[in-house]
Amino acid sequence: MIHIKTTEEIELIRQSAQLVSKTLGVIASIIGPGISTAELDKIAEEFIRDNGGVPSFKGYYGFPATLCTSVNAQVVHGIPGKYILKEGDVISVDCGVVKNGFHGDHAYSFQIGEVKPEIKKLLEITKESLYIGIKEAKVGNRIGDIGFAIQNHVQKYGYGVVRELTGHGLGRSLHEDPSVPNYGKRGRGAKIQNGMVLAIEPMINLGVKEVNQLDDGWTIITADSKASAHFEHDIAIVNDEPVILSTFDFLEAELKKRN
Ligand code: MG
Ligand code: MG
Repeated sequence: MIHIKTTEEIELIRQSAQLVSKTLGVIASIIGPGISTAELDKIAEEFIRDNGGVPSFKGYYGFPATLCTSVNAQVVHGIPGKYILKEGDVISVDCGVVKNGFHGDHAYSFQIGEVKPEIKKLLEITKESLYIGIKEAKVGNRIGDIGFAIQNHVQKYGYGVVRELTGHGLGRSLHEDPSVPNYGKRGRGAKIQNGMVLAIEPMINLGVKEVNQLDDGWTIITADSKASAHFEHDIAIVNDEPVILSTFDFLEAELKKRN
């Protein structure tokens, strides 16, 4: 069932999404070669709790951490731990916050130092595809139009679109209806309506679309061990158009400062 949100509810989701955005800003200020994914997780959890939020992921179906940290061939749901980031890595950092009863959920893929040109391109195109997908989230369209646009864009570069995991509705629950696949056909799926809140999140592989799950029961990795990228925004449909509730501004400002 799709929950249509009031203006007040959308504002609360925006506040939670913005706390995630600020948390990713903190991550951007410290991420780099030599730091472990567990350290990133600890700092994110402290920041969220200091700002009156609760990590959405921790304890969700037993997930043990605040962040999902997915490095290189890991697509999503990587568990923070002892792994120490090194030059040339790519890491997707996904974060969720619940505050005032509503969730925010968004993600960014960071390059660690200099990465191979093919990885740089994957990040650029995946991020582009997120905004191309968001543009389609307007009244008059259907959910399938979002995935169609994302798929159409990234497949021009020969990338694989992960099928097993999708974007989703968002609100009082971290995952609500409808599912928002990153592939699809024009004109298919639920009608897009004012008051819908969606997490749109392309998960795009440099190589094949197929993925596997590690024995930890969480981490999703590419079947061909090639890199993967993941960017996620929360959006609301207001006055027939998509409004982005989360922002990469905080993290991009931090990355700029450090360059
Ligand atoms: Mg997420
Ligand atoms: Mg999500």
